[in-house]
Amino acid sequence: MKLLKDRILKDGKVFDGNVLKVDNFLNHQIDVSLMKEIGEEFHRRFEGENVTKIMTIEASGIAVAAFTALAFGVPMVFAKKSKSTNIADSVYLAKVESFTHGRVYDVILSKEFLSNSDRVLIVDDFLARGNALHGLIDIVHQAGATLVGTGAVIEKGFQGGGDELRAAGIRHESLAVIESMAPDGDIVFRD
Ligand code: 5GP
Repeated sequence: MKLLKDRILKDGKVFDGNVLKVDNFLNHQIDVSLMKEIGEEFHRRFEGENVTKIMTIEASGIAVAAFTALAFGVPMVFAKKSKSTNIADSVYLAKVESFTHGRVYDVILSKEFLSNSDRVLIVDDFLARGNALHGLIDIVHQAGATLVGTGAVIEKGFQGGGDELRAAGIRHESLAVIESMAPDGDIVFRD
């Protein structure tokens, strides 16, 4: 998606630890016009798949998923990060290792909002090693729902999560795939 790649080149800042900050359009301030285009692009790529629900994880996936759900005309649900050890049996639960904070946390989704009749598209802001998406896929499986595919706005291709999903036969679409980046160097895209 050219519009997105141009924006990453203009505003993206690379930090140590292979972290890309895009706080002025995706992760802190949100460019809603760009987000609308992003939602419509995911719709173009997955239309005809009878998607019934868009799913993501809080917090930074929410805006991406909301605009995607709007383009599809379906509801959006997000998994919540839970600190409670006393988990009710009314929720699906998965464990996710955070890329940015390095610790493992529980994510939950109420059983009320996902069922075996759902056809789910999962989206998130970033894809690095794939832990967040794997946690969400786990929840889709627990619900007996059908996974249509997964999508990321920005994939850091050199961290392997996207290629692993594709190798596992999951239809994964990233709107920009970064092949390499360095704190004081260029950001290079895969294509
Ligand atoms: P993964 O679980 O695929 O290893 O990492 C994806 C999650 O970590 C995303 O939900 C995203 O919030 C966060 N993340 C991973 N890499 C980056 C990055 O370079 N920049 C930002 N802003 N978030 C990232």
